[in-house]
Order: sequence, then C-alpha cells, then structure tokens
Amino acid sequence: MFASMRRRKHWGWGFEDEQQSAENLRGMAPMLRERLGFEAQDVETPVPLEAVTLPEPRIAPPQALADICDTSTHERATHAQGKALADIVGALRGSFPNPPDVVARPRSERDVAAVLEWAADAGAKVIPYGGGTSVVGGIEARFDEPAICLDLGLLDSLHEVDPVSRSARIGAGASGPRVEQQLAEHGMTMRFFPQSFEHSTLGGWVATRAGGHFATLWTHVDDLVESVRAVTPTGLWESRRLPGSGAGVSPDRMLLGSEGILGVITEAWVRVQPRPAHRLSASVRFARFSDGAEAVRAIVQARLHPSNCRLIDPEEARFTGAGDGTAALLVLGFESVDDDPAPAEAAMVRACALCAEHGGDADETRTSAGGAEGWKDTFLRAPHLRDMLLQLGVVAETFETAITWERFGAFHAAVTGAAREALGGGQGLVTCRLTHAYQDGPAPYFTVLFPARRGEEVEQWWAVKRAASDAIAAAGGTITHHHAVGRDHRPWYDRQRPEPFAAALRAAKRAVDPDGVLNPGVLV
Ligand SMILES: Cc1cc2nc3c(=O)[nH]c(=O)nc-3n(C[C@H](O)[C@H](O)[C@H](O)COP(=O)(O)OP(=O)(O)OC[C@H]3O[C@@H](n4cnc5c(N)ncnc54)[C@H](O)[C@@H]3O)c2cc1C
Repeated sequence: MFASMRRRKHWGWGFEDEQQSAENLRGMAPMLRERLGFEAQDVETPVPLEAVTLPEPRIAPPQALADICDTSTHERATHAQGKALADIVGALRGSFPNPPDVVARPRSERDVAAVLEWAADAGAKVIPYGGGTSVVGGIEARFDEPAICLDLGLLDSLHEVDPVSRSARIGAGASGPRVEQQLAEHGMTMRFFPQSFEHSTLGGWVATRAGGHFATLWTHVDDLVESVRAVTPTGLWESRRLPGSGAGVSPDRMLLGSEGILGVITEAWVRVQPRPAHRLSASVRFARFSDGAEAVRAIVQARLHPSNCRLIDPEEARFTGAGDGTAALLVLGFESVDDDPAPAEAAMVRACALCAEHGGDADETRTSAGGAEGWKDTFLRAPHLRDMLLQLGVVAETFETAITWERFGAFHAAVTGAAREALGGGQGLVTCRLTHAYQDGPAPYFTVLFPARRGEEVEQWWAVKRAASDAIAAAGGTITHHHAVGRDHRPWYDRQRPEPFAAALRAAKRAVDPDGVLNPGVLV
C-alpha cells in the first residue's frame, strides 16, 4: 500500500528521483579535491532495495488495523533508522539491522489509540515517527520486542488559523514544506526552518525541541508552541492555548523534548506570523573566528535580535563556497513583519557597527538574495551533499552543543582539538559555526569531513564523536543544543541530568505508559 506517494530513497536523504547518477558524482571529484585537500574515491553504488532481505515480521496487525499497516520491504527499510552517519552507511550497503515489523500510518487519533492498545496486547513496542530525520538513533528499534513504527504522516492538515492571536492548529505529521504551504494559503508562515525542513515534521520538532531558522530569540520550536495535544496509552494529554502561564510545571514543556516516550503528539497550536515585510542581510568578514564570536556576543547582548546570526569559520566558509578560507564569515539577517522598515534597518546599522568594533568588514546590506542567501541555499542542500560525499568515499558528519560565553574560547579549542586528535593525524577537516546565539552563550556546531576507510566509516566517526562528546562533557557543555538525545547520546545525557530529575522522568513515564510501550531506550 501507500504506493501512490512519491517514494523516499531507501538510503540517505530525499526521494528516489533525487538519486544522483555515478557520472554526476564523478564530476564533483575535482571540486572536492580543491576544497577538501584530499582525493575522492571511486563512486560507490547503493545496494538496490530489491537485493535487501529483511527478517519476517514477528507480528501481524489485527483485522481492524490491517488497512493502515504495511509490512513491505520498502516501508520497513525506509522506517528502520534515521539519518545519522551509521544509518546512511548501513542503508547504502543494504544493511537494516533493526527494521520495524510493521509500519502503521494512522488516519486519526482513534487509530493512534488503537495501535497503542494493540501493541500493549501483543507485547510490542511503538516508535512514534515523524520524518525519520533523527540523527541520534531516536527511531531505531534497538530492542528485542516486536516493533511498530507509527508514522504520523497522514495527520498533516492545517485544522484552524486564528488570525487574531496569530496562531494555527496543525497536524503533527506535517512536514516543513506542508506546514508552510498550508499556512501560505492564509497569508501566514511559521518561519521555522531547521536544516532538515524538507522532511522533518511538526510533531518531530516538538518531540525533539528542534532548533530552527531564528538564530536568536525564537531559537527552539518551544518558543513557537502554544499548546500540544498527544495520545498517551492512558488517555489524551492536551494543554490549554495560552500565551503564557505560570501554573506549575508546564504540560507543554513536558511534552517538548519527550522524544516519543510519553505520548504520540497528534497536533499542536503554533505561533504564526505574516510573511516578513522586510528582510535585510549582510555578510561580515573577520580575520579570526574569535573576533567574529566577540561581535556575535556584542550583538546579542545589545539585544538587537537578528533573525540570522551565523558565524562560519574560515575553513567552513571555504568548503561551502561562501568564502575563500582567509576569513570567518558572519551571515547577519534582520526581518520584521511590521510595515515600517526603520527598526530592522537601524538594528542592521548598529550590528554592523558592533562588528566593525571587533574588526569586521561588512559588505553592503541587501534586501533580497545575494551571498548570504546563497549560503542559506547551501545550508538546505547540505543533506543531499552528505549522501553524495559518502558515495565518493568522504565522510561528512556533524555534532552540536552550547556553552556560556566566558567558557567559549577554551571550550572551542578543547572540542576542536579532541576531534582533530581523534582523526589520528590523518587527512580531514573539523570546522565550526555558531548556529544560534544567546545573551549568555552560543551554540557551536561542528562539521567533520575525512576520507573514508570503506567498511570502517562508522568506527572512524565514532572515534571522533566519542572524543568530542567527552570533551564537551568535561568542559561543561550540553551533549545537544537541538539534535536531541535519542539512543546515541544516552551515555552523556545520563551524566548531564540531575539524578532526581531522571527519577521524576522515569516516574512520569510509568504513569502515562505503564506497559512501557513507547520508544524504549530513549531518555529513560
Ligand atoms: C541533514 C539534517 C539536518 C538537520 N538539521 C536540524 C536542525 O537544523 N535543527 C534541528 O533541531 N534538528 C535538525 N536535525 C535533526 C532532526 O531533523 C530533528 O531532530 C527533527 O526535529 C526530527 O523531526 P522528524 O519529524 O524527522 O522526527 P523523527 O526523526 O521521525 O523522530 C525524532 C524523535 O521524535 C519522536 N517523534 C517524532 N514524531 C513524534 C510525534 N508525533 N509524537 C511523539 N514523538 C514523536 C520520535 O519517536 C523520535 O524519538 C537534522 C537532521 C538531519 C538529518
């Protein structure tokens, strides 16, 4: 079933019709040599789905749910894992170690509740699934019991728009483009653009506390969520629509970041806005990354609230084509929905002046596309690029964190140093950008690129990831600013959180999911 939909690739990012030909990939090799400083390898062709054999499903849906369930190889393989390096490498080679037994696509909350009931009766586990873009093992059935992947994709409608309060009620399964396309019909936008925008979903954003377009102020989806509705194994969890509330521990906040362990988010009221009337952008070059970071600190502490404030180190600017490698690049943007452009213009002038005080050299401010927008395109195309690189024997993976400003310099040096050392003195790049910035600190985002030893890429990567994560933990950073915990970050997350909090979370989970049906192994 589900055959009428445009099919996702069974490996990597995007749709089947987006798979690059070997010839196109070979054409990238000279550019890679120039930008990476090492050679690409022969193009590796993905193992076709027809050659993939999965173990037989261990459970069959009851008659009443047969219509919404699928056990085809394509559905099970494409829902078997997320988009971390190990997932992509495995799928490229036709390996799906933990496929779900069944993929269920509920058409209603009643279906969701029925699947949860079936799972409890059958001794199976349920993994809520949005777009499957988890990079932390959040949707992989790494447990012994039969697994039902609950894909919320059909619950993707815009139900209501409240133009007075500027909010909208949207189905959790709506992908980024679907959210925006439906809101556009009402002249509204959520303006939440994580890099995974194309395939990640509203429910996934809420469940993982995703970080989006706004580099300051409304950084996480938390800031855009007005209320959440979820189906738990013990009943509905729906919070009131409120602009703010001081009534105890927030029921929204508890679902935000719950990563599928407390309930299945079915819809949320989110804060929306008209499309921005004015958008200004500028690129500012700094001889040193640390000068750029000081300028970012000055901008956020002046409370100028740029919508974009991404500082890219020289290496990354060169690799992405945004710069020539001699300077760090700050991509600065201001936008306003108000008819009067003056406040955004004044903020841009002040931000550029602060940059100048820190040695920054700004180009002319633009009101539409240009270098800064070119960088944004690269940003959204990056997931496709990662697949292409892998086929050419180049590993590209990322990790991210946050730290307060007074520790940032030493932190950056320690984490970058640990990652470089773990590369073993071999070829490779470790680059850094600041994706989000707060009054009290930035969210650094690291990209690591190195030549694959084919068949050992995952071990190569985990050597880097472990070293970097240990360095982050030792220096007091968070194991994730927005990529979530999933299964992969558990060792560091468990050390990071206070133990009484962990006990409270386990108790909350027992209260709403007494049979432990939902997403075992994540968070608790
Ligand atoms: C190339 C790339 C770029 C990325 N860029 C960003 C970025 O810019 N910002 C960012 O924050 N993250 C980013 N991510 C990580 C990922 O996209 C986010 O974690 C995203 O929020 C996951 O959404 P999803 O719909 O794909 O959820 P999934 O991957 O399907 O699920 C993620 C977790 O949420 C749970 N979940 C999903 N839907 C529901 C639901 N309806 N109810 C309950 N639980 C649910 C799952 O069980 C799982 O634990 C990126 C990932 C990739 C591969």
